[in-house]
Amino acid sequence: MKKIVIGILSFMFMLTGCQSQDKEAPVLTLTKSRVQIALNDTFDYSLYIEKASDLQDGDLMDQVSYSDIDTSTVGKKTVHYSVEDQAGNKAQKDLIVDVVEYVGDLINPITAQADIVENPDDVTVLVNKLHEIPEGWKPDDLEKVIDCSQKLRHEANQAYTQFYQAAKEKGIEIYTISGYREPETQQLYWDNSVKVFGQEHAIQYNAYPRRSEHELGLCVDISYTMDGDRLSEKVADSPLGKFIESDAYKYGFILRYPQDKVRITGYGYEPWHIRYVGVDLATQLHQENKTLEEYYEG
Ligand SMILES: [Zn+2]
Repeated sequence: MKKIVIGILSFMFMLTGCQSQDKEAPVLTLTKSRVQIALNDTFDYSLYIEKASDLQDGDLMDQVSYSDIDTSTVGKKTVHYSVEDQAGNKAQKDLIVDVVEYVGDLINPITAQADIVENPDDVTVLVNKLHEIPEGWKPDDLEKVIDCSQKLRHEANQAYTQFYQAAKEKGIEIYTISGYREPETQQLYWDNSVKVFGQEHAIQYNAYPRRSEHELGLCVDISYTMDGDRLSEKVADSPLGKFIESDAYKYGFILRYPQDKVRITGYGYEPWHIRYVGVDLATQLHQENKTLEEYYEG
């Protein structure tokens, strides 16, 4: 009898002992690591909490606290989420929120605060209206593409040549329109567009200097024709457009600005613009139907 009592007592001690020694932090996960919100919009903090739970305390979704951000000014802000279990163990996660001005569905790059990318040489680098190429950076392995004097970086060009030849073998018309662009040229395009057509037009149709993938030497605009408006939505319905959709990833290219992802990429639909990211990443993005933004930022 005495043994049983001692047994029960020590078992109870073990239980309470375990509880008081809860050193395991809760799990806190967010659905995204970076999001964009329009200037003056109300930010829905709870929308991005995916999971908050603790081994001891169970579900903690209601206990998550977060810091406020001011959406009345544009810029890159950070929301700090945190949750604490009963034993005082804490978990924290940050969400970057770009408060941006929209022109229609597109981010206004003039007022947007962009990060300067640290890996412009990497073929998987993310460059967009919120990620900028460092000033003075230029690729050092450019070479001419197969059918004209436009240029691409060596690795991208090798892949493009294979893609081009595969299209030709299928009897598909393919013409290179635009590859690498010097930063100075991009600046000129932008300035001219603003001057001649106005800011709104430039935002719609031109990339902001140092935030264009064309300055990376990893993307190329292609068309099925050399006549008339070569880069139009007609490219999508052409045999070339369909070949891009079905086969570009096999060569390491992605359709960078899809029709249904305008809000995510910040760019209008461009069925002619393909970007080299390497076969592995291109295949993954193709299978998961993701843009580069979604790959990096959820
Ligand atoms: Zn392009």
